[in-house]
Amino acid sequence: MPETLITPASVAGAAYLVAALAFILSLAGLSRHETARRGVGYGIAGMAIALAATVWVTVLDGWGEPGAPLGLLLLVVTVLVGGAIGLWRARRVEMTGMPQLIALLHSFVGLAAVLVGWNGALAEPELEGALRDIHHAEVFIGVFIGAVTFTGSIVAFLKLSARMKSAPLVLPGKNVMNLGALVAFVVLTVWYVITPDLWLLVLVTALALALGWHLVASIGGGDMPVVVSMLNSYSGWAAAAAGFLLDNDLLIVTGALVGSSGAYLSYIMCKAMNRSFISVIAGGFGIEAPSKGDEDLGEHREIQATDAAELLVNASSVVITPGYGMAVAQAQYPVAELTQKLRERGIEVRFGIHPVAGRLPGHMNVLLAEAKVPYDIVEEMDEINDDLAGTSVVLVIGANDTVNPAAAEDPGSPIAGMPVLRVWEADNVIVFKRSMASGYAGVPNPLFFRDNAQMLFGDAKERVEDILKAL
Ligand code: NDP
Repeated sequence: MPETLITPASVAGAAYLVAALAFILSLAGLSRHETARRGVGYGIAGMAIALAATVWVTVLDGWGEPGAPLGLLLLVVTVLVGGAIGLWRARRVEMTGMPQLIALLHSFVGLAAVLVGWNGALAEPELEGALRDIHHAEVFIGVFIGAVTFTGSIVAFLKLSARMKSAPLVLPGKNVMNLGALVAFVVLTVWYVITPDLWLLVLVTALALALGWHLVASIGGGDMPVVVSMLNSYSGWAAAAAGFLLDNDLLIVTGALVGSSGAYLSYIMCKAMNRSFISVIAGGFGIEAPSKGDEDLGEHREIQATDAAELLVNASSVVITPGYGMAVAQAQYPVAELTQKLRERGIEVRFGIHPVAGRLPGHMNVLLAEAKVPYDIVEEMDEINDDLAGTSVVLVIGANDTVNPAAAEDPGSPIAGMPVLRVWEADNVIVFKRSMASGYAGVPNPLFFRDNAQMLFGDAKERVEDILKAL
């Protein structure tokens, strides 16, 4: 091979290819418990290669130009400061704080895409004809997707961290507003391609910021899981748009990987929750204001830990359905110990995992794996639902919406149609929670008032430990 073909750019291109492969292997690894750790390893390796190649090619390509040393200094300082903040946050974050942290990180991708787009407009490259038009369209689309992702992710962050109410915002004519914003975006894009005036970019930035805020604010708590994965997808497309502007192939490939896998995850979650994909991405299009649900649901019964232990030792089969409260209480370790103790007594114990239990896809699986619960007794909702009717005792540990019979029985409920774990079909149900409060979707739960259900009040971890003591 002639020596001239080996340029900094060609070497970086080869490194990008390796990094892209590492990202694909990472996604493949992350799809199963057993290989997830390896998947994370591939991701870290891919990102390290990508960063090193980008710094290297940027420095070598521009070396000799005035300001190059300052550019290098800024790059190194930025990477160090960003890396240090990332490391600090990742080490400190609690498992329960993970969803909002992820939402916040998506907002950074959105903001970065807006800044790259604006930079592309201000530092107008010398292009002619169709290439110039394509550049303008890239700028406009990149800024639009980035700004929607930015404010949408901030609202998701506020909702997930309970700084904003999870109930949907229902403005009059909300669907018309969303649709109008999309039409305005298309018209403005054509206009900007023909006459690239800066005020058009200001307008589309403001429009997209407002649209992102409104789209996510209009979605109720029950649909938040889909919104989070949808914003993940948007952040991918925003990164891909930035990749086109920066002429960076790896960013395009990575953005497309994140965008398409996020979109597919949103689709799977919509199917799992029996929600219309279009309705959710269109900011709750077609969803009516929910009924209040303040009717009298009757009396509930309470149980103490010692009686719960008694019930468990006399059971032949036990199913545990964990939810967000198990994560809050960090009850997975005593739950794993309880599982082991019951199995040693010859009682069949299994876990039933709802696809949106907790606040992250796979949240419960991660916690149970952390506490070393064997994978083979952890079953998906669809695998276990038909067995619940023949189960002696179901322990609902910090779950609420995911075991709410209203979803199956009350067509007027805001979560009507969402498949749930049919725990009420078991002989006995013990619900671990601190109060009679409703779950994330804000919907009252008739399960607590069923004849076969008893409430075990208090922090889930403490109550499971009490049962262990009583055993
Ligand atoms: P929910 O959020 O419906 O309910 C959790 C329950 O845990 C609460 O009712 C609370 O009751 C109880 N709880 C909280 N802390 C403790 C504690 N220390 N000890 C005992 N109980 C506790 O949980 P689910 O997992 O059933 O449902 C998940 C909800 O979150 C769904 O609505 C889903 O759509 C939504 N969501 C899911 C996401 C995902 O990707 N998985 C993302 C975003 C939202 P109390 O206060 O009385 O103790």
